[in-house]
Amino acid sequence: MANLELTAEEPPCAEDGVWLSCIECSETFAPFSDVRYTCDSCDGLLEVRYADLPTWDDFEGERNVWRYEAALPVDDGVSLPEGGTQLHDVPGLEAEIGVERLRVKHEGMNPTGSFKDRGMTVGTRVAQKVGVERLACASTGNTSAALAAYGARGGMETLVLLPAGKVAAGKVAQASLHGARILEVDGNFDTCLDIVQDMAMRGEVYLLNSLNPFRLEGQKTIGLEIMEQFRDEEGSYPDRIVLPVGNAGNTAALYKCFRELVESGAIDESEVPKLTGVQAAGAAPMAEAIEHGWEEHQRWDEVETRATAIRIGNPVNAPKALPGIRETGGTATAVSDEKITEAQRDLAGEGVGVEPASAASIAGLRKLRAEGVVDDDEEVVCLTTGHLLKDPEAAAEAGADPEPVPGTTAGVLEYLEAN
Ligand SMILES: *Cc1c(COP(=O)(O)O)cnc(C)c1O
Ligand SMILES: [Zn+2]
Repeated sequence: MANLELTAEEPPCAEDGVWLSCIECSETFAPFSDVRYTCDSCDGLLEVRYADLPTWDDFEGERNVWRYEAALPVDDGVSLPEGGTQLHDVPGLEAEIGVERLRVKHEGMNPTGSFKDRGMTVGTRVAQKVGVERLACASTGNTSAALAAYGARGGMETLVLLPAGKVAAGKVAQASLHGARILEVDGNFDTCLDIVQDMAMRGEVYLLNSLNPFRLEGQKTIGLEIMEQFRDEEGSYPDRIVLPVGNAGNTAALYKCFRELVESGAIDESEVPKLTGVQAAGAAPMAEAIEHGWEEHQRWDEVETRATAIRIGNPVNAPKALPGIRETGGTATAVSDEKITEAQRDLAGEGVGVEPASAASIAGLRKLRAEGVVDDDEEVVCLTTGHLLKDPEAAAEAGADPEPVPGTTAGVLEYLEAN
């Protein structure tokens, strides 16, 4: 069972009050003098730990990732900048789903159109600090788009491994234009990750998948922002945060955010929002593990969903995320592609344009509310992870078809009259 306690003493290997700790065997490692992604002793996941944890007063400046520098392992990043995303009102959905309050945190408004930017601003700087020049990731698309942009900004070489034919057009276009080398792998995302992890272990590349504990530190700022924004605008913290789950990096990052806030005294344990993960029915190993009460998820070898960003059968951060869902009193569920598309359309109808994976959060909330798992008096934040234009094909399919009309005003008016 993972050890996610934050109370350990600062070990001698710490640098500037920062170290890495294995969540399985609690072994500690220096953060920057060596490159490692998992524990030397037991291969467990690593987590960044701090001698000092900040409270609200330690955050200053404009609302973006680097406002939260006191909660991060480096003083600054390769920045575009990122974060400071909108917390939308969606009155129609709020009324229809039937909760006390519903806000949508739209991470599609980051520089490359997804929350991955928050991780990359930190991860790219750490790569420079440890002295590895070539960055790499396996990706369902958005990680590669973000890595390519931040690599370009940092003047570094980037390599992205994508499952051939399974990545949305907008994302490949971004990776390509920002100058990444795109390797199309004959296999699914999990195969790509296996390969790039092997290459990283051999020292060929610096790995910036969410297995990288520093990337998750940047993504932690989603939680810090939600808590501050919601408190400032609603006068309380949200009861529940609903998010799409692929590799469960965000779920892990949000749980770490809340553990640190509790440990520093910034919030009370009773104020921690219930983490609620949503997967696509065709790729739902986390939802399966929660439903069956399993300690660990089982890898799905075959995965399929229109929500390509969460088309993942072996969520690498499950050992950090499953305890997060359980300890916060949350849950996980799976929704069909049809329900995802419906939610994507409904969000768009409120002016919020998201890619399919993002809409899973709304579809999941709708399902859990209908089942009575979510109460009508709850204040909820749904996370939408990526922008509509990431996957233009899915958007066009979900939306209305263009209507051919003649090239004259009279013809157009006549057509509108008749149809
Ligand atoms: C990466 C991504 C996800 C999955 O996030 P995890 O942290 O891997 O669970 C969901 N939606 C979008 C749009 C993404 O890019
Ligand atoms: Zn270990």
